[in-house]
Amino acid sequence: MSTPTSADPKVGFVSLGCPKALVDSERILTQLRAEGYRVVPEYANADVVVVNTCGFIDSAVEESLEAIGEAMAENGKVVVTGCLGKRADLISDRFPEVLSISGPQDYNSVMKAIHAQVPPKHDPFFDLLPPQGVKLTPRHYAYLKISEGCNHRCSFCIIPSMRGDLRSRPVNEVLAEAERLVRSGVKELLVVSQDTSAYGVDQRYASYPWKGRQVETRMTGLVRELGEFGAWVRLHYVYPYPYVDQVIPMMAEGRVLPYLDIPFQHASPSVLKAMKRPAHAEKVLDRLKAWREQCPSLTIRSTFIVGFPGETEADFQTLLEFLEEAQLDRVGCFTYSPVEGATANSLADPVPAELAQERFERFMELQSAISEQRLRSRIGGVEPVLIDEIDADGALGRSRSDAPEIDGVVRVHDGHGLMPGQIVEVRIDQSDAHDLAGHLAEGR
Ligand code: SF4
Repeated sequence: MSTPTSADPKVGFVSLGCPKALVDSERILTQLRAEGYRVVPEYANADVVVVNTCGFIDSAVEESLEAIGEAMAENGKVVVTGCLGKRADLISDRFPEVLSISGPQDYNSVMKAIHAQVPPKHDPFFDLLPPQGVKLTPRHYAYLKISEGCNHRCSFCIIPSMRGDLRSRPVNEVLAEAERLVRSGVKELLVVSQDTSAYGVDQRYASYPWKGRQVETRMTGLVRELGEFGAWVRLHYVYPYPYVDQVIPMMAEGRVLPYLDIPFQHASPSVLKAMKRPAHAEKVLDRLKAWREQCPSLTIRSTFIVGFPGETEADFQTLLEFLEEAQLDRVGCFTYSPVEGATANSLADPVPAELAQERFERFMELQSAISEQRLRSRIGGVEPVLIDEIDADGALGRSRSDAPEIDGVVRVHDGHGLMPGQIVEVRIDQSDAHDLAGHLAEGR
């Protein structure tokens, strides 16, 4: 393998935003490495800097503009890409000197701009890349992006206008990537998209050959096959359509993690209608009950928005009652904030910021109590824990109920001798509203 030298062209890289943007960054970084570029941590030494931006909410826009400003000040040769690239005027008005601006997944434009600034070093040995490409996540887990774009038009969201309609990757391509990742040491695959339940709709669920059989480009086919690799498989951004029912038995059998990340966003029918949410008419509580009966260890994670325009006190009460009834395990909540370009901005009856904040606090108070009680019920049990890091107090890992970054952790008090990526059995002996703690179970 060729060793990087100080003569290699150098690229600084900043990656902001969601896991989908992270996957874009990984593809660009893999391409850079394949062409002999060196990625350097500091701007001053770089020949060019790439900023992969996020434009989802106003605070993300500001963070992206600040990152571009910093790269301009410290280096001056800056290529901007990602979601905010769709709003090129905003960037070029503030930073007319940037070298190029492109939107998400526009890898070609990014590479073209880098080539124009600093040509690649020809290196015939360079196909000796790690087989899993360059990952920004720790080696033992990886995001698996199954599609781009979205066919829905939620009124608060501008992702479809930035990323376009749903385009699913053929199932054999996704499975080949997953297999490569697992072979290279990945222990947990996090399936991401904008709408995982819709996977394959755009391809009319086309079948592709995989390991001597035909597999449909469809969530159920994908999940069944991913379950063959022996890694943890975690499903994000699933909507509660009836055919999700077919995935639950696979969770009960242990083929994939008993974990569903379903962004409900609200529970009041009128707010969901104003939000134009997918699956808003489904009987969610009945469905959750049936799923838990089939798979009692199922963890449900969700996110909600309070203070959406037109949300009345009665709507908010409906949401609190839903929370009480649904007993969700992991919940994130945001107060509504307008996003430039979103249709929700023109809706009547905005909720004053103080009232939205007050509802947020009431929501969180109720959910913390639910979460605390649900976590407490796990004390005394023995659970598999995937170790993420070792520190002075032992090890930190995650149970099957915890996705990285967004959910809780499990502290393993006597885990000093463990290694990241190991899966160990832990007896849980402590809990709070977010996290668990325990000791290695005897006879592991
Ligand atoms: S489902 Fe709605 S919120 Fe999610 S990406 Fe599509 S339009 Fe946006």
